[in-house]
Amino acid sequence: MKRVPLSGPASVLALSLLGAGCSSQQPPSPRAAAAAQSPATPATESTADVGDTPATAVPNVVTETTVNRSSAEREPQPRAATPNKTTSAPPTRAGPPAPAFRGSAQPIDAATRSRMTSSWRPGCPVHIEDLRLLSLDHWGFDGGVHRGELVVHRHHAGRVLAAMRRLFDARFPIERMQLVDAYGGDDDRSMAANNTSAFNCRPVSGRPGVWSQHSYGWAVDVNPVQNPFVSGGRVSPPAGAPYANRSARRPGMIHPGDAAVRAFASVGWGWGGSWGSSKDYQHFSATGR
Ligand SMILES: [Zn+2]
Repeated sequence: MKRVPLSGPASVLALSLLGAGCSSQQPPSPRAAAAAQSPATPATESTADVGDTPATAVPNVVTETTVNRSSAEREPQPRAATPNKTTSAPPTRAGPPAPAFRGSAQPIDAATRSRMTSSWRPGCPVHIEDLRLLSLDHWGFDGGVHRGELVVHRHHAGRVLAAMRRLFDARFPIERMQLVDAYGGDDDRSMAANNTSAFNCRPVSGRPGVWSQHSYGWAVDVNPVQNPFVSGGRVSPPAGAPYANRSARRPGMIHPGDAAVRAFASVGWGWGGSWGSSKDYQHFSATGR
C-alpha cells in the first residue's frame, strides 16, 4: 500500500545510517536489530548471511541461500522435528522432514528489467542498479511451498529474506508473490489478486509528487485481502472488507505481536497495523511509514 499514516509510529528507529551510496532520502536503518538476529545455519551450497545486510552484504551475484530451521525461532507447531540434511537419525515422529527455506537475491538483469517496465522508469527515486530481485520460498494457502518473487532495495535484500525465512519457519501462508508488473504496476489490481509485493515506483495515493515507500524498495505488502488498508469506512482492496474486523483469526491475517509482525520487527521494520489512525494491515516498511 502507499498510504501515509496521519500520525506515524513512535518506533522510527534512530539508528545508524547505512553506508555510502545511500541517497539523502535514506531513512534510519535498523542495522542493529538486523545484526541481533539470524542464527542461520548454512545447510548446503554457498550461503549469505541473510540477517545482517550492510551495503556490501548482498553480493552482486546469485546467492542461493539455504537456511536450516532454527528451533529457537520456530513457532510452536505439532509437527515432526526437522532433521539436518546429513543426519542419519530418523525423524522422531512420522512424516516427511520440513523443507528448508530457500531464498536468493540477484541484481536486476536485462530479462528482469524487461519485466519491470510498469514498476520502474527513469526518474524513480531508486536507480534500478540499486534494486534486487528476491526469489524465495513461501507457504501457500494450499499447504504447499511456492516460489515467489519480490523486488527490494539492495540495502534491504538480506533483511527481507531474513523476515521471509521467519514467516516460512512459522508456516505463515501467503497466497501469491509476484512482481507488481504482473498487474501492470496497478496497486489496486495487485491487491485485488491478493498479491504480496514490494517495489513499485508510484506516488502515495491522493498525493501526487510524494513517493510511496514502495518506490524506494523498502516496503512490502503481505496478503492485501486478509490485511486490507482501513481508513474510516474505506477498505482497500474491497475484497478485504470481510477482514476489516480484526478480531477474527483466519489464515494469512496479521495481528499485533504475531509471527509476521515479529519477523519484520526482527529486522527493524515497522507495521502499518500499528499506525494510530488509518491502518494498513498489509504494510511493512523499513521506515515505519
Ligand atoms: Zn504498502
